[in-house]
Amino acid sequence: MALSGIQIYKLLPQTNCKECGFPTCLAFAMKLAAKQAELAACPYVTEESRKQLAESAAPPIRLITLKAAGGEIKAGNETVLFRHEKTFFNKAGLFVKVKASDGAEAIKAEVAKANAYKVNYVGIELCVDGFAVEADGGDFSAAVKAVRSATKRPLILVGKDTAVLDAGLAALPGENPMLCGADASNWEAMADLAKKYSASLTVSGASLDELADLTAKIQAKGVEDMALEVKGDNLSQNLSLATQLRRLALKSNFRPLGYPLVTFTEGGNGRDAVAAAQAISKYAGFVVLPRFAAELFYPLLVLRQNIYTDPQKPIQVQPGIYEINNPKPESPVLVTTNFSITYFSIANEVEGSGLPAWLVVCDAEGMSVLTAWAAGKFDSERIAKTIKTMDVASKVSRKRIVIPGHVAVLSGELEAELPDWEIRVGPREAVDVPAFMKQALI
Ligand code: SF4
Repeated sequence: MALSGIQIYKLLPQTNCKECGFPTCLAFAMKLAAKQAELAACPYVTEESRKQLAESAAPPIRLITLKAAGGEIKAGNETVLFRHEKTFFNKAGLFVKVKASDGAEAIKAEVAKANAYKVNYVGIELCVDGFAVEADGGDFSAAVKAVRSATKRPLILVGKDTAVLDAGLAALPGENPMLCGADASNWEAMADLAKKYSASLTVSGASLDELADLTAKIQAKGVEDMALEVKGDNLSQNLSLATQLRRLALKSNFRPLGYPLVTFTEGGNGRDAVAAAQAISKYAGFVVLPRFAAELFYPLLVLRQNIYTDPQKPIQVQPGIYEINNPKPESPVLVTTNFSITYFSIANEVEGSGLPAWLVVCDAEGMSVLTAWAAGKFDSERIAKTIKTMDVASKVSRKRIVIPGHVAVLSGELEAELPDWEIRVGPREAVDVPAFMKQALI
């Protein structure tokens, strides 16, 4: 039973020392009750109170980890329904499914292709997280070995027949894979198998009641790491189910359903893409797609990246002078902010054009140009200070800077701040910068 904020407060030291980052013990207690703070933030809780608070402090959605030689994927530990309330923590793992019936050679080729895929998005490397192998006939053990020969990333083994799955799990010594397929018909044997191989277990039920009943029984058999399969008949049902499960875990602290969610997507004509996008947004811990294609994964990886960034901490690049295409002293100086997407938009456009430039990135606390200007973080004073402290003048033979078109209003003030410099107003959009450089900066 979850404790209320007042009950938690009574177990805290009540000294209001603020070391937890909250102004009072009561404020901290309220955040703990809302699952928006960690008990570890208070160094003064007594051991006795810590024990009593353990249940309240435990994450409402259990953290589970899939491990293999090539890395690990975590899911769970989420504390909010909506990203803007705090942040989402563990990115939904994106997996590619192969079928044992396809045969070892075809499996190897498909997995090798997906495994080699890497893409750089605003300085972050994105890739496929792991693979699922379905026991749908054929030699399952050979299929698992074929996958393992082409990738070292975490695996999910899918099937109902525990003897077949056992043969596949035996091919993964020392790993913590996920076993998928427990339901009312086979849960006992699946729980035994998960325990034997230290695997986490994905459970499905015909209703939420049945699902809660199954997880309680499986837990009683000694399997703690579980995930819940979201298995509606259509997208609408899946959305409804995922939302109910998340609400029950977070709002009602209903432990039997406090596990990460797994969604398998199917369907041609992009239906799998739509289903995966929905699952990433609400509230999957693992999303398994039936195929690999770069054009399918890239938008999903970017969507996931955007959903799982902390809304209070924009992705930033280091302020500084960036050299693009080996600039010379006569090359132009472009000025922008240190919001990653802003930086990469302009850097990629200029780099792609082959034109050399000095790109001066100001510290605007990670905000984009207009937002930073509106917040007073990208004004003439700050730009001038950046130009001076980074000693941009020592790099160039012509003192001329180009500011983004969105802050044209700053040009007059900037002339006053930097009287030795020529101030030019560039285009509003990054895509127009190369043409501007060719036509206006001769
Ligand atoms: Fe209270 Fe502990 Fe926070 Fe200090 S650190 S204010 S004692 S909850």
